Amino acid sequence: MRGAFAQSLRVRVLVLTLGAFVAVGIPGLAAFSWIVGSTTEKLSTLFAERQILYDRYRGLGPLAREVALAETLARSPAIIAWAKDETSPARTARGIDELEHFRTSFRDGSYFLAMAGSGDYYYNDAISRFDRAQLRYRLLPGNDKDAWFYQTLAMGPGCRLNVNNDRALKVTNVWINCVVSADGKPLAVLGTGINLTSFIDEIVTTDQPGVESIFVDASGAVQATREESRIDFASLTKQAADRKTVFNMLDDTQSKAKLGDMMANLLDGRTQAASGFLMVGGKKVLVGVGYLDRLDWFNVTLMDVDAIVGKHMFAPIGGLIALLMLAAAGLITFLFKRSVLDRLALAETSLERIESGDFPPAIKAGHRDEIGRLTHALNRMASAVRDNTNKLEDTVRQRTEQLERMAYLDPMTGIANRRGFADAFADEHRRARAAGGAVGILLLDVDLFKSINDTRGHQAGDEVIIEVARRISAAGGEDEICARWGGDEFVVLVRGCSPETIAATGRRILDAVRSRAVSLSDGAGVRITTSIGAHVADDDDTLSSAAAKADVALYEAKRAGRNRVILFDRERHGRDGQIKVA
Ligand code: GH3
Ligand code: MG
Repeated sequence: MRGAFAQSLRVRVLVLTLGAFVAVGIPGLAAFSWIVGSTTEKLSTLFAERQILYDRYRGLGPLAREVALAETLARSPAIIAWAKDETSPARTARGIDELEHFRTSFRDGSYFLAMAGSGDYYYNDAISRFDRAQLRYRLLPGNDKDAWFYQTLAMGPGCRLNVNNDRALKVTNVWINCVVSADGKPLAVLGTGINLTSFIDEIVTTDQPGVESIFVDASGAVQATREESRIDFASLTKQAADRKTVFNMLDDTQSKAKLGDMMANLLDGRTQAASGFLMVGGKKVLVGVGYLDRLDWFNVTLMDVDAIVGKHMFAPIGGLIALLMLAAAGLITFLFKRSVLDRLALAETSLERIESGDFPPAIKAGHRDEIGRLTHALNRMASAVRDNTNKLEDTVRQRTEQLERMAYLDPMTGIANRRGFADAFADEHRRARAAGGAVGILLLDVDLFKSINDTRGHQAGDEVIIEVARRISAAGGEDEICARWGGDEFVVLVRGCSPETIAATGRRILDAVRSRAVSLSDGAGVRITTSIGAHVADDDDTLSSAAAKADVALYEAKRAGRNRVILFDRERHGRDGQIKVA
């Protein structure tokens, strides 16, 4: 991986792009969850306040109607007149008529009335079980179970709610207790009850998961909630410390104080709903509160925000963003590959081909950006390298040819040397044999050359050799090739010759060389002659055997007094060139 990172730009760009996305992604994720958190909180708060208003309406509606009816009944002149004189049978009859008149209007179909003076308790239910027997029993101030009555009377005019058991019917009711009074003096308490179970089922229970509705009185004592064990029955008759309150459900004093503040603010009537996050059962719970002014109750709603607005709802957005980031990283890498890597790879391959001496056609440069310019420069460099290489190769070829030529030429005279002559001889001999003809050679040696060196100096000797070469070349016809054999010796190849014609050619060259004195650079002239051995090559002759035979003839020419041409004669000189001693 480390190797790939170091060597591959693509891997590096991919890793760096992903790294950059991670670097951006981590704070992005933090910001995202902060946004999710605050959005959830805002949404929940909004939801909480709606829920409060809804519960307020739900709770208030049915109860308020009952309270209004009971209040009207408590102000009824017939009832007040009866309460003022409860022993009067006429007033009692009218009063009971009035109660019966209201009974059917109450939701529960029942009513009660208890007189302050006697403690007489009148009651009738939905099926009018106690028709003409409405007086059920007598309340006693010392009786604990009757404490609600004396407590209500003591609180003076107005209506109050009390959640309590019905001793006779063995049901739990939300009681609406209204004080009947005349001239500010409480005379009786009347009202109706609503069955708590049906009240809870209809009003308190909500099918929204994570939401719990609680109705509490002004002191915070729980009056109605789904869990009956939490309800504080007969709050009216209890000491504050003994009450089961909504505050007891909260974990810390801070939360308790906050709820108290919220309730106090609602009492002012400035807002209809308040909400805040409080600690309940070790969890941060959104608590909404509304005030039911007609009942002097509060409805408190506990909401588990996670259950209402699950954060998982935002998961698709998070996933989408992550996916988009990944796609962007992929796209960047792909575009980088297309616009940089592929073009660089092309340039790299092209460079490798140039390196191996194979000049590729110019690469397409594409855009005129950095890589485009680099590619242009590369193309220019490739063509310059190609031109230089071609030039260099040309020069090397020329030099090689020159060297090769020089290897076959005698530098002093400019005619072929022995090596050059050897090739020419081999070619011509083969050709002649194929054509049924013959080639001959003349071996030529300057007579008494050493004495020129000795008397006139080496320079003069050189000048003579050069002049001899020139004269042999000039004398030679189209069918002759001359070369320097070495020292003061020259050799001439004669094409298409016979023993007769080769001797004639030898004599022609002999004459050409001796025709006039050689003029030296110091102004002096020197006369020279040569001796020539001639031989027409046999089919099986090599250059050296042919030259040896010519040399035999040359040797004889020297011995015979120089300045002549002698033809090698098999009879006289022997088959292999040994001179027979006569
Ligand atoms: P001969 O008639 O028997 O040939 O007598 P010669 O003096 O010519 O004897 P020979 O051919 O044996 O001598 C050749 C001399 O040529 C010997 C050598 O010092 C001289 N020589 C060979 N090459 C050169 C050269 O390139 N320049 C000069 N100046 N002298 C050369
Ligand atoms: Mg000589």
